[in-house]
Amino acid sequence: MPELPEVETIRRQLDAKLKGQTIKSVQILKTGRETPHGQAFAKAITGKRIKMIDRRAKLIVWKFTDGSGITTHLKLTGTLILVEKNYKPTKHDRMIFQIGPHHLVWADVRQFGRMSYLSHEALEKKLSEFGPEPLELKPAQIADLFKRPVTRNVKSALFDQTTLAGVGNIYADESLFRAKIKPTRRLGSLTAENRLRLAKAIQQVLKEAIKLRGTSAQDYVDAYGQEGKFEKFLRVYGRKGLPCKVCGTPIVRTVVAQRGTHYCPNCQK
Ligand SMILES: [Zn+2]
Repeated sequence: MPELPEVETIRRQLDAKLKGQTIKSVQILKTGRETPHGQAFAKAITGKRIKMIDRRAKLIVWKFTDGSGITTHLKLTGTLILVEKNYKPTKHDRMIFQIGPHHLVWADVRQFGRMSYLSHEALEKKLSEFGPEPLELKPAQIADLFKRPVTRNVKSALFDQTTLAGVGNIYADESLFRAKIKPTRRLGSLTAENRLRLAKAIQQVLKEAIKLRGTSAQDYVDAYGQEGKFEKFLRVYGRKGLPCKVCGTPIVRTVVAQRGTHYCPNCQK
């Protein structure tokens, strides 16, 4: 599932093209994952002018000049891709937007993604449900988020979107590896130094991944249909049985909080 670096990559690419443009038409090819349903969605947003394409946690947020907006959650297989005018729809496409001179396709093979049109008030409320953005805090502030609850394991805390926004499975595993912390550690067992190391690792890994336009471990592609380049820099995620890039010990995959979790049993304590 796209996490902060992937969603941020798409956001930047879309914002560069769509900011200031007006939605001219919305063609709904497959209905059911939008709110309001069907043509009511198209009607609600046609004619709206885009103030900016923003991001909150893993949501792409279309902010309109009248204060209303759309939240898009791509989920497992969703894509938003800028296409040419003469684009021929494929079977997984859900919607085609004409926005100013641009054409944007929302496609989704598994169809878990969501697109919601919200009033200004509803949008503000939705965006306030998440924890802070990791790249907007100082490391010491992030470190404080991982003090409690003391019995919770650090991996669960990392991908809880109400604790910290935007980190999912890939970047949780990568941050913990860099911080040399085992994913099953209880928050109460972390020292102040552990927490600070984790905070710095989170920021570092997210920044590096954004620079390389994210990780294409599964279906993710950016708004130009290009894969991200961070995959080959992953140190633990998806590397079960392969040698640790630091010490050579085979990387272990286990399940923590129902998520596949990768770590080095030697480097991470
Ligand atoms: Zn190692």
